[in-house]
Amino acid sequence: MKTREKWLTIAPQETRAILAREFPGALTTPPAAGLSKCRNRSGKEKNEERDHDKSLAATFWIALLSAAILSTILLPVLATAAERSIPVLLVDGQSGGPYHAWKLTTPVLKKELEDTGLFQVTVATSPEFGGDFSHFKPKFSEYKAIVWNYDAPNWPADLRLQLEEYVRDGGGLVIVHAADNAFPDWPAYNQMIGIGGWRNRSEKSGPLWYFKDGKLVSDTSAGSAGSHGARIPFLVVSRDPEHPIMKGLPAAWMHAADELYATLRGPGENMTVLATARSDSENKGTGRDEPMLMVLRYGKGRVFHTTMGHDVAALSCVGFMTTYQRGTEWAATGRVTQKVPATFPTANTVSFRVDIAGMDPAVPALEHFSH
Ligand code: ZN
Repeated sequence: MKTREKWLTIAPQETRAILAREFPGALTTPPAAGLSKCRNRSGKEKNEERDHDKSLAATFWIALLSAAILSTILLPVLATAAERSIPVLLVDGQSGGPYHAWKLTTPVLKKELEDTGLFQVTVATSPEFGGDFSHFKPKFSEYKAIVWNYDAPNWPADLRLQLEEYVRDGGGLVIVHAADNAFPDWPAYNQMIGIGGWRNRSEKSGPLWYFKDGKLVSDTSAGSAGSHGARIPFLVVSRDPEHPIMKGLPAAWMHAADELYATLRGPGENMTVLATARSDSENKGTGRDEPMLMVLRYGKGRVFHTTMGHDVAALSCVGFMTTYQRGTEWAATGRVTQKVPATFPTANTVSFRVDIAGMDPAVPALEHFSH
């Protein structure tokens, strides 16, 4: 049995040229127009991620795909379902708004883990905040890791306690993108994720964390938490190349167009930053090297936190996918057995899975790239 996977590799200069042509203003100051509708924030808006224009995104994909070079690679399936030995629970069910389309991203997050042949993923869809939780009884202890694709203001006390005990006793936790927006007032959750943003977080939630002069620093300046610019490709820099998740990856690689999270705050306890990205001041950024990938310890448990992965397009990046797959294995077992794929992006190229990008109906049909 074989599975067919398709990759596109494209130089970021080309994507920047496409952006400049299709979205004039996206790469200039002030970037009031562009891939996202984010504008200067005020009042309540400061704590909410803003909606994004799907039609602009679709236009971007058409332009990108038209300009891209296609390569097709056939890979054997690594293991049958029976051999998948790492049970993973993926929790979803709510997000901060339609821009975080969990019904689209959950199948991608599940597929990317199961494509490795290592994981068996079960999805648990939580009721929304304030809903009826009487029938929602996930058995965390039956899983080696829990992937968090859920963003709500709060959770019932008994579930909070169960998750705390699960991780403290050695369970793995994987935080993807806006999962770090969730639960601003749940102290243990914020200890587990290290840093988070939005939902009225402020200096009371903890200091800002970023890299300065090659070192992780905390900054107690007052202000809100959570920001990002227009979605464009950006360079991710490894800060801990010997960590099992990072070992064998290039020192720097281009991530596909995504939100670059910045000004995240939190306790930052027992946190190691594995990779950062420069938040471009010309794209509503901080000008600082912001944490992108982190690992944390909480009791005996391991947490892997990636701030990347806004939408299906971002999740289709081979760089996102590889670090997510390796990070989940590390959270579940404490080690990484997966090899780095030959299609991993470089410092000069973006690489993404066409078949996964096509799991978002906003991405135009890709049949003409099929063989
Ligand atoms: Zn987002």
